[in-house]
Amino acid sequence: MADAPTIGANQNESKNSGMPLHTKIFIGLVAGAAGGILCNTFMKNDPVLLGFIKYVSEPVGRIFLNMLIMVVIPLVFASLSLGVAGIGNLKQLGRIGLRTMLYFLLVTAAAVTIGLVLVNTIQPGDALPEETKNGLMSVYGQQAAEMQGRAKETTFGIQTLVNIVPRNPFYAMAGKESTNGNPDMLAVIFFALMVGVALTLIKPERAQPLMRVLEAIYDVAVVIINLAMKLAPYGVAGLIFSVTARFGFDLLKALAWYVVTVLLGLILHQIGTFSVLVRLFAKINPLAFFKKVETIMLTAFSTSSSNATLPTTIMISQQNLGIPAKITGFVLPLGATMNMNGTALFEGVTVLFLAQVFGVQLDLGSQLIVVIMSVLTAVGAAGVPSGSIPLLIIVMQMVGVPGEGIAIILGVDRILDMCRTVLNVTGDVTCAAYIARSEGYELKA
Ligand code: ASP
Repeated sequence: MADAPTIGANQNESKNSGMPLHTKIFIGLVAGAAGGILCNTFMKNDPVLLGFIKYVSEPVGRIFLNMLIMVVIPLVFASLSLGVAGIGNLKQLGRIGLRTMLYFLLVTAAAVTIGLVLVNTIQPGDALPEETKNGLMSVYGQQAAEMQGRAKETTFGIQTLVNIVPRNPFYAMAGKESTNGNPDMLAVIFFALMVGVALTLIKPERAQPLMRVLEAIYDVAVVIINLAMKLAPYGVAGLIFSVTARFGFDLLKALAWYVVTVLLGLILHQIGTFSVLVRLFAKINPLAFFKKVETIMLTAFSTSSSNATLPTTIMISQQNLGIPAKITGFVLPLGATMNMNGTALFEGVTVLFLAQVFGVQLDLGSQLIVVIMSVLTAVGAAGVPSGSIPLLIIVMQMVGVPGEGIAIILGVDRILDMCRTVLNVTGDVTCAAYIARSEGYELKA
């Protein structure tokens, strides 16, 4: 695969106004949030507002999201198989694969540990009044029961491992009803990896035609993303407006200590851990790094989905950081599915918080299980909004916290999801930057 794939319009500069794209997205985000909060304050549940959300802001946000998600499968498939074929030599591939997995697991474990230290120190569960707990359980009980149903359908264990090898890759790409039509990304990734490996094992002249086709698919996907990103400022405004206009802000107050614990953990990991990693392993100035990945963070925040952000993540990592396509093609699709630092931290804090609320004592051994399970379930969670909740219920039940307790945090999940998804994708880029450096590539920062 050529190191510099054909990328359409430059994402950083809009030709019309000269305003960088991330500034435009930021304006959309602020305008959407301000509008939503104002409407929430003055006309909450007003039929006009509800109509506006249903017929204008939500559809605008959805169309933007769908435009991005539409290209995820062709993009992941083409970029991953070309990435593997581009790396070419299986020894190098093994080394990159091993480093990537180790990085994912260790950094995710570090994230959960930060969360557990905070939740043990702050003890947010002790501060939750009994009547707030009961109120939340009754309001969100129905939604929690649905989530528990989904958790029951979610297989986790040896079957998860078996399912990584798809019997029918098209079935994996199409997604099942039980996953709301979301594709089975691990299975798609496995198939793409196999195609990439096979391409390196056949004669180059036999491999060329398929590689040409994959390159064309990749280029077409990139052009579609460029077009979709033109909609980003409006899409982001629509998404944020719909969330904030309907959000129960009083819930934030009721769950303040829990929310503060999660956010503090996320901030520490995002600013602390990532800065250290980027400085040490990618040898980039952390400030310059965060500036360069602004568009990725804004897209993750507003979509709450690693999968929907993946096209932007791939493109911006190549354009702004200069990470070669064969590294982004390999590391980032894997990361969007397997590397979820924010999610793991959130899971750890939530399990311990709910254990405190329900008076379940978790000794050091049980907390170690929480760390391990949070890392593993973050690997298995789908990169979609609230994708981790069914798996989180499984972890809760494993250590004796009642699954229906999830009702207590469901009302604030969307806001926390927006924040944790930022870490999920930033973590992927730090890994891609590290791998590129360790393979001897110069980065732009
Ligand atoms: N929304 C997260 C993501 O896409 C997954 C989750 O934590 O629910 O990365």
